[in-house]
Amino acid sequence: MPFIIAGPCAAESKEQVNDLAALISSLNIKVFRAGIWKPRTRPNQFEGLGTTALSWLAEVQKTYGLEAIIEVANAKHVEEALEAGIARLWVGARTTVNPFSVQEIADALKGVDIPVLVKNPVNPDLSLWIGALERLNQAGITQLAACHRGFSGFSKIRFRNHPNWEIPLEFRRLHPEIPLFCDPSHIAGKRSLIPEVAQKALDLGYEGLMVEVHPLPEKALSDSAQQLSPNELIHLLEHLVFRNPSVDNLQVQEKLQQLRDEIDEIDRAFLELLAERMKVSRRIGSLKEENLISYYQYQRWNEILENRSFWAEMSGVDPEFIRKLFELIHLESINQQSEGL
Ligand code: PEP
Ligand code: MN
Repeated sequence: MPFIIAGPCAAESKEQVNDLAALISSLNIKVFRAGIWKPRTRPNQFEGLGTTALSWLAEVQKTYGLEAIIEVANAKHVEEALEAGIARLWVGARTTVNPFSVQEIADALKGVDIPVLVKNPVNPDLSLWIGALERLNQAGITQLAACHRGFSGFSKIRFRNHPNWEIPLEFRRLHPEIPLFCDPSHIAGKRSLIPEVAQKALDLGYEGLMVEVHPLPEKALSDSAQQLSPNELIHLLEHLVFRNPSVDNLQVQEKLQQLRDEIDEIDRAFLELLAERMKVSRRIGSLKEENLISYYQYQRWNEILENRSFWAEMSGVDPEFIRKLFELIHLESINQQSEGL
């Protein structure tokens, strides 16, 4: 069962906070999110209710036995949150990019080992994300988790933010000890796309989800298009498929091992072929050198792209994937040919 955090993008009224807290606790969810200081990209938008809303969250913790989590972006936020007894904090994507702000938050937290969730920075920079976690850890925060919320990009895609799944997966490889959450709301940007993103995160082995929900999403003061209605949240939770990180069944383990052995064999043959290809490539390189022909021949590259895409289609492999693979192989070939120049 993944760890679920749910709640509105922002706390908007005492009634909204209460209604949602009642819903969340009835669904057996333990952590209630709500933004009270909202980082907005452009000015003159709803920026959260600030201190006023803090007491509502503190109340909800008592009434429903929930743990509230809010976003903090500076030392003052941290101090106010701690004073109000807020159980958990998160660092937002626009704060993770700034080591000064993260350090300020870490310093304000010294001596208080409260759980902190760190969203990925808005730019696709894994070191910055890890660096933020390290700053907090060095300040004595031991209950850390990372939250993948997608990355800004100029090109328009169907999601609000680029997921760049390879980044959280590399994060997982480097830091398997840190629980990984996904915020499908801020990746998707649209209600209808949230189930797909949430399921993908669970399929990849994320430990938790942080989801935005609002009693009347169309009326929400921020992130209206991506907040789920209470019924949509219930529907989502009922339909998510949970996976285990590993399997106890010995027969399944054995079968998995057999298939992995097969993959190992194929990969070894594949590598040997690739090495063979590079050898031929270097021979072509010598020929080009002796005859002073340029290493890059765009007609040949076009031909390779066309043939390989066609062969890929014939073999039932995604031509786009093969294109990317051959771009790498071709670049390496040219590097090998021109080596020593
Ligand atoms: C949020 O969770 O409401 C939020 C502002 O998130 P992010 O920092 O991912 O933009
Ligand atoms: Mn939001």
